[in-house]
Amino acid sequence: MRITVLSGGVGGARFLRGVRAAAGDSTITAIVNTGDDMWLAGLRITPDLDSIMYTLAGENDEVRGWGRIGESERVSEELRAYGVGWPWFTLGDLDLGTHIARTSFLRDGVPLSEATDRITSRWDLGAHLIPVTDDEVETHVVTDEGTMHFQEWWTKHRASLLARSFVQENVSTATPAPGVLEAIRDADVVLVAPSNPVVSIGTILDIPGIRDAVQSTAAPVVGVSPIIGGSVVRGMADACLTAIGVATTADAVALHYGSRASGGILDAWLVDEADAAAAPAIEAAGIRASVVPLWMRDVPTSAALAAAALAAGLDSNR
Ligand code: GDP
Ligand code: CA
Repeated sequence: MRITVLSGGVGGARFLRGVRAAAGDSTITAIVNTGDDMWLAGLRITPDLDSIMYTLAGENDEVRGWGRIGESERVSEELRAYGVGWPWFTLGDLDLGTHIARTSFLRDGVPLSEATDRITSRWDLGAHLIPVTDDEVETHVVTDEGTMHFQEWWTKHRASLLARSFVQENVSTATPAPGVLEAIRDADVVLVAPSNPVVSIGTILDIPGIRDAVQSTAAPVVGVSPIIGGSVVRGMADACLTAIGVATTADAVALHYGSRASGGILDAWLVDEADAAAAPAIEAAGIRASVVPLWMRDVPTSAALAAAALAAGLDSNR
């Protein structure tokens, strides 16, 4: 079976680890958000790709939740002394190795998707990671204190400045990276990870051609709610949802994605047991609702969630 997953960083990485455990000998392709990417200290940083790579490689710092195990910050201290980079954005030494390798490929004219193949080939990931686009489409946030890169709003300001809107720089001329449209079109099931619906999944869908591909694929499309019991499980995605006028509830996010029958992207949507009461409203919108535990505490709970998502795909009698 060919499984294609639309994914952001940390939530997507945890989900993908479960998909890998549940997938048997299926092939897994992850289409990964690049809206958080940026140039910093002369290096191309791709946070969501790296979160997934480190998590699937077993190299992720599980205590902190992101970055490499056994990380140090000696190089960062030197950069800080030179006034290079952002003092509030951690660049670990091992992580910097990844960024230097990536930037080296890019400087040689290698597209990001090919650079990602080269970098990920070092690890046994059990999944093919494709950046959604090779173009530099960075998410900027419009606030009353000015427009800033998503990372500045998210990491420096902890999403505390009211976001008026999110803007994807240069999105209109961007194209999906090689293999992205094919992975959606030729999949046996498309899974939408429990990732940030606005700045992870929304950014992926807004690259020209992708939303259409998800709408028209013959594969069932199954999404997993990143909202449990009216709150985000980890992080600050509620600030993003509020900015686009969507309530932080499992059913509001489902309706925001919409049913494929009515021009949206979903056939089925998984909600947590805490949100069982929302199922009728989701079904009324033409999206099959399944109620299963959505907390990804460890690999077994993530794998059970992934198995439920795959089962919901098989059940989708389109
Ligand atoms: P980011 O790029 O690192 O922000 O990560 P993603 O966009 O992939 O995912 C962030 C979202 O994952 C958060 O908004 C959380 O709501 C969601 N999330 C994190 N952990 C879990 C979990 O255990 N279960 C579910 N259902 N969602 C989760
Ligand atoms: Ca991200």
